[in-house]
Amino acid sequence: MPETIYDYVIIGSGFGGAVSALRLSEKDYKVLIIEKGKRYNSNDFPTTNWQLKKWLWLPSFRLFGIMKMTFFQHIGVLSGVGVGGGSLVYANTLAQPKQAFYQSGSWAKLADWENELKPYYETASVMLGAALNPNLELGDQYLKKLAAKQKREAHFEPTKVSVFFGEPDITVSDPYFGGKGPERAGCNQCGGCMTGCRYNAKNTLDKNYLYLAEKNGVEILAEQEVIDITEKNADGANQYEITYRDSTKFLKRKKKVNAKGVVFAGGVLGTVKLLVKLKNSSLHKLSDKVGHDVRTNNEGLIFSVSANKEKDFSKGIAIGSIYHPNENTHLEPVRYAKGSGFWRLGMLPFVIGSNTFIRLLKIMMEFLKKPLMYFKLYTVKDFARQSIVLLFMQHIDSTLSLNKGLFRLKSKVTSGQKPTAFIPEAKAIVEQYNSISGGKSFVYVSESIFNIPSTAHILGGAVMGENIHEGVIDKDNKVFGYSNMYVCDGSSISANPGVNPSLTITAISERAMSKVPQNKN
Ligand SMILES: Cc1cc2nc3c(=O)[nH]c(=O)nc-3n(C[C@H](O)[C@H](O)[C@H](O)COP(=O)(O)OP(=O)(O)OC[C@H]3O[C@@H](n4cnc5c(N)ncnc54)[C@H](O)[C@@H]3O)c2cc1C
Ligand code: SF4
Repeated sequence: MPETIYDYVIIGSGFGGAVSALRLSEKDYKVLIIEKGKRYNSNDFPTTNWQLKKWLWLPSFRLFGIMKMTFFQHIGVLSGVGVGGGSLVYANTLAQPKQAFYQSGSWAKLADWENELKPYYETASVMLGAALNPNLELGDQYLKKLAAKQKREAHFEPTKVSVFFGEPDITVSDPYFGGKGPERAGCNQCGGCMTGCRYNAKNTLDKNYLYLAEKNGVEILAEQEVIDITEKNADGANQYEITYRDSTKFLKRKKKVNAKGVVFAGGVLGTVKLLVKLKNSSLHKLSDKVGHDVRTNNEGLIFSVSANKEKDFSKGIAIGSIYHPNENTHLEPVRYAKGSGFWRLGMLPFVIGSNTFIRLLKIMMEFLKKPLMYFKLYTVKDFARQSIVLLFMQHIDSTLSLNKGLFRLKSKVTSGQKPTAFIPEAKAIVEQYNSISGGKSFVYVSESIFNIPSTAHILGGAVMGENIHEGVIDKDNKVFGYSNMYVCDGSSISANPGVNPSLTITAISERAMSKVPQNKN
């Protein structure tokens, strides 16, 4: 059998990878996606996040679920794994950034991004089935009250989400792509979006971009991780040899495939890890900027827990509303479905203090002052019913770098302030929310003890620049130093969007792929 040479191998099947696959296949390229995670059908998703085997990706413990937690010295990162990448685990929210995003960061001078990206945001919204959330449930209603209390009702809005709001649980033929897409069922407001939608209502990438790409002949190799790339230059043509290995088996067999082009789409953690390794081994011509300009949304993830059994925060979609207390700040209530109480294992009262010792002391004082109240809060029957996560996000910018460490990537602060779990503004606004909802604030142990803030929105590390000294990729996402090589995922995002980034990753990938010429071979 003659060896197959693909036109493009795409590493990862998240937002950037899925867009690239569909658009390249439409231009008659032969495309292979290599994806580390598993392929899921609706019934494969866990019923609650206590089913760690299906929810968490932790291969050393033989857990091959959809969500991965990675801890660095300065941040803890939540990310998605599987065919569909972060879309499997994400909270569906499709937010568009404010003006500051287009005018800051390493890409600012390369284009009039706000105007340039407008049509691609529109395409991305259509493809992901963006719809306004029609139901404001308990956590959203409290947020609306908070906005009213602050006399900023106009700055509260339902979210735009990638969910099909048909008749609950009723299956209909493809409502999005004129019959070319899969059947879908209406959302039943179960709140389980972040453990994977078991009802075929969430518009994950396997229901749109990847579905259509596979129909066009794109091949997807799941449970395989790309570990190396070398340049071959056979017959003067640009060609790469991609080495990958099994990611879920005990024996990790290595295999190789050849391609004329490569799209890095492994998300920040996948792409930056690979680029840092390649820069130091087989792809020396990569920019020295690899791993630089890594950002978060300066997030705070704060649990508001209520002891009142009558309250049910779990009903609704994962994120149903957003409030903008000021130009720089955004707040969203985030829910899990009934029974999904995993996070209760590591939560401690939210106190602010300059070091671990002071914080521990303050936590002890809290327990001593109100032992009965904390007993009730720690023993609530259904944690997901009686809690809501308040996701606080800011435009304010600071950057990290991810560099080669002894065994794994290590983080370093490169500009602005070190990310912190103790943003006084976040504490203040959450306290105001609690005064309306009757809740009490808690944060995860890694935040309260070690001051490592968690983020689900890691971005950058392969950012745009005018030349190889300023960025890893040019304004069309092409990698400097190599031909037919692209980065299309969160690592290409070159400024802080301040809001949930998936729509932006999709739009920028759409633009990048629109610049690739039609295959003439
Ligand atoms: C719990 C949670 C909730 C979120 N909610 C929202 C939200 O509501 N709205 C929003 O906009 N964003 C949300 N996000 C963030 C969003 O999921 C990410 O920003 C987005 O998925 C990033 O897209 P990407 O294209 O960079 O790659 P990803 O979607 O991260 O996909 C990368 C894929 O590449 C694979 N991969 C990595 N390395 C390799 C390799 N070497 N070989 C093969 N495959 C590899 C990974 O397994 C993964 O499947 C959320 C994230 C989490 C964890
Ligand atoms: S609320 Fe439930 S049914 Fe609706 S999209 Fe989320 S997981 Fe699916």
